Amino acid sequence: MREKEIVQNICIPELSTINNDRCADADQILPSDPVEWPINDYTRDYVAMYGYKQNKNADFSKSKRQYTDKTRMLTKNIFNRKLANGELQPRSWLVYSESTGHIFCGTCRLFQTGAAQHLVLNTKGFNDWKNASECLKKHENSNNHKTCVVLGRVDKHLIQQLDEEMIYWRKVLHRVVVVIKTLASRGLSFRGHEEKFGSNKNGNYMMLLEVIAKYDSFLADHINKVGNPGRGHTSYLSSTICNEFIQIIAHKVVSKIIDEIRDAKYFSIIVDSTPDISHIDQLSFVVRYINKSGLPVERFIKFIPNTGHKAEDIFNVVITTLETYKLDINDCRGQSYDNASNMSGVYSGFQARIKNVNSLAKYVPCSAHSLNLIHLQKLLGSNSNCLKIKLLINLVSKLSLTLKRDRLNALSILCIESDILNSLDFDDIINDFAKKKIEAQSCLIYLMFHVL
Ligand SMILES: [Zn+2]
Repeated sequence: MREKEIVQNICIPELSTINNDRCADADQILPSDPVEWPINDYTRDYVAMYGYKQNKNADFSKSKRQYTDKTRMLTKNIFNRKLANGELQPRSWLVYSESTGHIFCGTCRLFQTGAAQHLVLNTKGFNDWKNASECLKKHENSNNHKTCVVLGRVDKHLIQQLDEEMIYWRKVLHRVVVVIKTLASRGLSFRGHEEKFGSNKNGNYMMLLEVIAKYDSFLADHINKVGNPGRGHTSYLSSTICNEFIQIIAHKVVSKIIDEIRDAKYFSIIVDSTPDISHIDQLSFVVRYINKSGLPVERFIKFIPNTGHKAEDIFNVVITTLETYKLDINDCRGQSYDNASNMSGVYSGFQARIKNVNSLAKYVPCSAHSLNLIHLQKLLGSNSNCLKIKLLINLVSKLSLTLKRDRLNALSILCIESDILNSLDFDDIINDFAKKKIEAQSCLIYLMFHVL
């Protein structure tokens, strides 16, 4: 109801086309009282697109003014201008301030520059009702006012242009995210030896984009135009953008897991380390908890490299990691590791150190590790679905020397927790990317990405 009212009242007919969907938070962006408007580019861009409330149906009692002969106040008639032929034309630029009882020229208030910006109708507002008709006529015929109206129109065209561009790039990014989600969820590699469309060595990422383009004329056109760009062309298909998306998506998956753990409150921890192919020891950090459906789930959080093998080192790293994610060690109810003395030791092992902090964190020796000691390869080769650690040991042993830590963690979590990855919303991912990209740019673009 409120939105409808806003839309009905908003108008600069020469300037704007009102879009209902975009006025949902109009009052937060642009207060209804003109004296409260923030005068900046952000407001100008918003008004150029969506207009402002004129407050024609507000309570005008505060506008009362005592003259020597009688009391006068604002009437609705003032919101229309009578043309020479008797026709009424709405004064779409006029806006009433309920807090002051004055009227303002909304367009000049926002777009006026130079000395003219100090005119009464732009600053303090006008309330001389006896001379209103004459003064308003003079104002709307002034060059200053007409210039502001034109400025508003130009602003609108610029915004519409940006709007079209934004829709175009969102379509591109949507396709990029589809490809990244597909490859990451299956643990497939992204890059090939040659970053070039049309090459059969360009890797899975570019290959999949090419496959989509075969049936998607939009992407085909985009790849043809800027897929293999010279300097200065933006395509948003490069490996750099791909990597940025991998980090953003992985961050969203971890956030979702941490939210689930916080909802569950109590959790158990499972940690284990194994050297990767470059002989860097990677500590896998896994958390187990009960999800909203009442089922126990194990979630991989991250690899932590080179923690050291002493119980004290691992304890410090685990406590720091829990603190990073704002998880309280006092909510830990279980811990499970291998049977090595540094982990399981009753007096100074890692589990004993955790118990010193929280005696409710029961230690359960990992049965998979016990079996592991009997026949490691048989266990890893089985179809058993017992522990996520098993999958991690497999994954780590195959890691490439060239994989950086951030990328390793991101790709691991996207592959292992692919159910969460697949539940993520495309627009949320693209919005996060857009926010990151435009932090240093104009608030207008931010608004447009944000509003969509
Ligand atoms: Zn004006």
